[in-house]
Amino acid sequence: MRVVSNGDLHISAPYRTPRSAIDQFVRENEAWIRQALQNQLQRNHQRADFYGQLPLETKEQAMEAVNRLDGIIRPMLLKYTALMDVHPTKITYKPTISRWGACNKRTGVICFSTYLLLLPGWCIEHVVVHELAHLIEANHGPKFHAIMDRYFPRWKEARKATREMVTSC
Ligand SMILES: [Zn+2]
Repeated sequence: MRVVSNGDLHISAPYRTPRSAIDQFVRENEAWIRQALQNQLQRNHQRADFYGQLPLETKEQAMEAVNRLDGIIRPMLLKYTALMDVHPTKITYKPTISRWGACNKRTGVICFSTYLLLLPGWCIEHVVVHELAHLIEANHGPKFHAIMDRYFPRWKEARKATREMVTSC
């Protein structure tokens, strides 16, 4: 049983479990459910507070943010594309929430979230190296982690710091 991000309660049970057994299970775990819902609500508020720090409602705000981020990311791209010998074909920016970057290994297009502006430089750098690493390896397997170990040894630390920033705002 778990509470998912929109506040729904998901319960897994064997296929033939009678509905009454599930109902009883829910009743018996009411306190846990209440607490889990409360926690989820709080996380959603924290996320809203975090992303709300960078207003991107108007076209001017969005363009200014993209220009500012591009100014930060370009030098990082120059450094790491040379080091890693990778060649992205296109860099784009979108105000994506809960996804810092995306890389299409086949087309070589990398997209970064404009909200990276809310992260400290070393965490932005981590995302840049992560997406560039996807040009070499598509999946998050051992091969991918070996690439990260080589080019950005603090990747676990950066990932943790980034996650904590979003939920501790
Ligand atoms: Zn990835």
